[in-house]
Amino acid sequence: MRLSQMFFLTLREDPAEAEIPSHKLLLRAGYMRRIGSGLYAYLPLLWRVLKKVSQIVREEMDAAGAQECLLTQLQPSELWRESGRWDTYTKAEGIMFALKDRQDRELGLGPTHEEVVTAIARDMIRSYRQLPVNLYQIQSKFRDEIRPRFGLMRGREFIMKDAYSFDLDEAGMKQSYEKMYHAYNNIFRRSGLAFRAVEADSGAIGGSGSQEFMILADAGEDEVLYTEDGKYSANVEKAVSLPPDAEPSAFKKYEKLDTPGTPTIATLCDFLKCSATQIVKNVLYQVTYNNGMNVLVLVSIRGDQDVNEVKLQNELVKQADQYGGETVIALTVPDAEAQQKWAAKPLPLGYIAPDLSDDYIQPSKSLAPKFLRMVDPTAVELKNFATGANESGHHVVGANWGEQFQLSKLVVDLRKAQAGDRALHNPSQTLKSARGIEVGHIFQLGLEYSKSMGATYTNEQGEPALMYMGCYGVGVSRLAQAAVEQSYDKDGIIWPVAIAPYHAIVVIPNVTDANQVQTAEKLYADLNQAGVETLLDDRDERAGVKFKDADLVGIPFRIVTGRSLQSGKVEVVKRATRESQEIVLEQVLPTLKQWIAEAIS
Ligand code: ATP
Ligand code: MG
Repeated sequence: MRLSQMFFLTLREDPAEAEIPSHKLLLRAGYMRRIGSGLYAYLPLLWRVLKKVSQIVREEMDAAGAQECLLTQLQPSELWRESGRWDTYTKAEGIMFALKDRQDRELGLGPTHEEVVTAIARDMIRSYRQLPVNLYQIQSKFRDEIRPRFGLMRGREFIMKDAYSFDLDEAGMKQSYEKMYHAYNNIFRRSGLAFRAVEADSGAIGGSGSQEFMILADAGEDEVLYTEDGKYSANVEKAVSLPPDAEPSAFKKYEKLDTPGTPTIATLCDFLKCSATQIVKNVLYQVTYNNGMNVLVLVSIRGDQDVNEVKLQNELVKQADQYGGETVIALTVPDAEAQQKWAAKPLPLGYIAPDLSDDYIQPSKSLAPKFLRMVDPTAVELKNFATGANESGHHVVGANWGEQFQLSKLVVDLRKAQAGDRALHNPSQTLKSARGIEVGHIFQLGLEYSKSMGATYTNEQGEPALMYMGCYGVGVSRLAQAAVEQSYDKDGIIWPVAIAPYHAIVVIPNVTDANQVQTAEKLYADLNQAGVETLLDDRDERAGVKFKDADLVGIPFRIVTGRSLQSGKVEVVKRATRESQEIVLEQVLPTLKQWIAEAIS
């Protein structure tokens, strides 16, 4: 492609809409345009990158025995009602775009495809002889994200590869999962990225085992906790650890104290001159189930620790049936406005005890009459602890479970692991923290969808059996931007060679110099002919402008037909290292071929 004809436009200034470097650079270098909130047009340069990423993904999926197909993006609501996900995905914080057609039928725009693919498997797979099967597709997904941001990182329309495996039994499912795990490692390695596979929460999709693939970058939205021995890494949402030891309590006897102005743990520690590890903190949440039922949840946890809301949400899903619900629609810390709706009298906020009276809850049909009380193990272990007195400006100290406070039967690990904690597998290892961008996620789904949607096959004994499923996603468009976030400098993008839109760019410093033009034209033709994807900057611009653009766009190798032509050489510059050398004309092609081969092997 000749730059004089290429559809692109570079900007000197950072666009105001962009916050993180990769977002700024992709806009500035003419890769994409914002069309609306979370909506981006992929311009020719970016489309080449996306096709390269897709091709790597496709090759690895094919090699692992998965078969490509293309499912419908419009999905009938009936399928989502069968799986029980219609409400969770369309109400409150649900992310599915839902619409009605002219016959008043409800449809969703596919955020993911478990339902569609399970319906197909249910209809087509009859016998154990047809299993295992793994189907995948590469296509645009739609999600009405609450906070679309950072360009392609969190879009409302974005490209995903999703794959779904069907197996005879659990062992088969684990094998399919294992194959995908290897395929994913190959995909991210071949794309030239530094990444880490981490244990992950299974979230709303359900199921058991799951891992995320994280690209390590400071702007990542996810926090990863890992140990340096390489034996543990997990998303903070899922991570477990040993908390620091609690200090022995200084409080010898039970008493209620005046503690004015101490609604936070820090102010209370200051006032009582005690460690946060001697305090039982009580945190209030409000959960809304899919049947409209609201429950107020009181979590007791050691004062120096925080609640992991993902763990809490998972536990609340387990508790759903006692409230007639199935799934959680919203989990919030009730603000003043929310409290007004249910509190019979003002709450002693900042001074709440584990036994806060149920009288605080106004009777209402859509509200459970009692607090759901849960205790984290860190709080259970405490003796002679301090906690609220259910009265503003007052706390009690020297309290014990089984004496002043009854211990809830619901003792659950709700604690957020944090950097500095000791690791479970080896307490001499401490957890370190890193930021990551989730570019892939693989799940063992088990029977979750086959059960709810009745996907069975006939086994060798002639009996019906449920299929074991797995699902596997790669954020293709997110990956492209994450690659930039991991690799850029002050002048622009530094693409890994494997996914760069072009391998090389031939720059003619002076388009009025016939020799320069002629040599460049020949190089351009020969390189492309030989499969080195090459741009030709034949624009009537100053050399400086051309070099700046080449750096910004991030093409791995720049060839300049400048002064060195007099000795039959061109200047070749590596974008990543800025290493520059003069190479005789005949050697340009073999040299580039060798560099490219080395870079993408
Ligand atoms: P996240 O936690 O970032 O919201 P998710 O867990 O909902 O993502 P999955 O359902 O596992 O995402 O989707 C598979 C992959 O699709 C993710 O690993 C991610 O790379 C990508 N992805 C998910 N949501 C978006 C989005 N809004 N924009 C771009 N890519 C996305
Ligand atoms: Mg995920």
